[in-house]
Amino acid sequence: MATSRKKLFIKTYGCQMNVYDSGRMADVLAPLGYEPAEEAEGADMVILNTCHIREKASEKVYSELGRLRLQQQEKAAAGERMIIAVAGCVAQAEGAEIMARAPHVDMVFGPQTYHQLPEMVTRAVRGAGGVINTDFPVESKFDLLPGEGATPQGPSAFVSVQEGCDKFCTFCVVPYTRGAEYSRSAAQILEETRRMVANGTVEITLLGQNVNAYHGEGPDGRTWGLGRLIRELAEIDGLRRIRYTTSHPRDMDDDLISAHGQVPQLMPFVHLPVQSGSDRILAAMNRKHTADDYRRIVDKLRDARPGLALSSDFIVGFPGETAEDFAATLRLITDVTYASAYSFKYSARPGTPAAAMAEGRLTEDDKSARLEAVQNLLAEQQRAFNAGLLGTVQEVLFDRRGKHAGQLLGRSPYMQAVHATAPDRLLGQVVPVRVTAVSASSLGGEVVTTESVHGAAQQGAAARPPFISPDIKANHQEMTA
Ligand code: SF4
Repeated sequence: MATSRKKLFIKTYGCQMNVYDSGRMADVLAPLGYEPAEEAEGADMVILNTCHIREKASEKVYSELGRLRLQQQEKAAAGERMIIAVAGCVAQAEGAEIMARAPHVDMVFGPQTYHQLPEMVTRAVRGAGGVINTDFPVESKFDLLPGEGATPQGPSAFVSVQEGCDKFCTFCVVPYTRGAEYSRSAAQILEETRRMVANGTVEITLLGQNVNAYHGEGPDGRTWGLGRLIRELAEIDGLRRIRYTTSHPRDMDDDLISAHGQVPQLMPFVHLPVQSGSDRILAAMNRKHTADDYRRIVDKLRDARPGLALSSDFIVGFPGETAEDFAATLRLITDVTYASAYSFKYSARPGTPAAAMAEGRLTEDDKSARLEAVQNLLAEQQRAFNAGLLGTVQEVLFDRRGKHAGQLLGRSPYMQAVHATAPDRLLGQVVPVRVTAVSASSLGGEVVTTESVHGAAQQGAAARPPFISPDIKANHQEMTA
């Protein structure tokens, strides 16, 4: 039976996991005739894929729903229907409250239910009242979603390997909105990645809320950790780069650390959130590690892969954070040094233990002052890190066109945005680029020739140890073919 074409607009908030989930929702809805649209206007279905991590997340969703209501009414006046759905963590946390406050919403569903979307859409289309689904179903959505990688994902793609979290940090909603930690089977992940690579993907980022807690079943019947999974993925011909995010220090085991020294495709950049440098605050956050535990892990990572760069997350102004606690955070940043980082003022997430901590709450002014101090220090480190790459040759994966004619944009091994004048045929390729300009947040460079690659490889080895893989020459031949 032919399915009529319908337009689907998904607005994604928050993390890479949500970006990935939005892609999967589009995959699930494609057989029902829904095709991706660039904007909400005129769409037959609009899904807000929400994030609950940041402050006022739900208020932002409600104001967006207000705007969508007008568009829904315009469509209705023309005799057409716009289905409005709220998915993701705000949907999971607020559930029926969303329908109560915004009755024009047709579907509210949590992150564990995306495989049930066709059934929910059928119910919504029948119009028998709003559909609310915030279950944690017994079946795994990963087993029931269509296989990832069947359609081209582009040069750089996400692969979800685990979801949920059992850590229960006292400030975080993830264990409540995403549920208990669950790892996909290694066979599924390997198969999907092979398909993606066959379709032109050269870089994958393994995704999970607590990705290094990965403990999936291997094809040998044993439980594989993330290190083992990465080693197997690295065997896939044509896969040039592997990344993973987001990690917890407690799950950074020796096998994963040693993979950083042994797997050239594993990029020398790790996002390893620490949140605070004070043991007292780390305990209040229920982080299950101390500041020195974190320092030791960083040392081991850098021993395994010299030149490895780090990013992190910091929360300032957690309830009870004293001036000494805050000074410990600044000390930790100074000791570790970061290539980039995210930092936020603490703000209470309803339903989390920290939201009930009344003692020692800081004023907004105090939190702002601390945030400024942390951000100044981190920005200084980021500038210094970028400046240290000036004149070196970095492998850049060009994944899109730049704003200017003849310009391509890509990412360095350290996730810096890099722009260079380069022909379109280099899109989707890992290309040696000499860094000729640095700014606070990006690099500019020139694509180098075969001869200069060899010179630069030697020069790079003597200076900072950014990784120049052995296949750099092969890649260069490819790009000049
Ligand atoms: S480990 Fe990460 S996802 Fe899990 S509770 Fe803590 S902050 Fe949230």
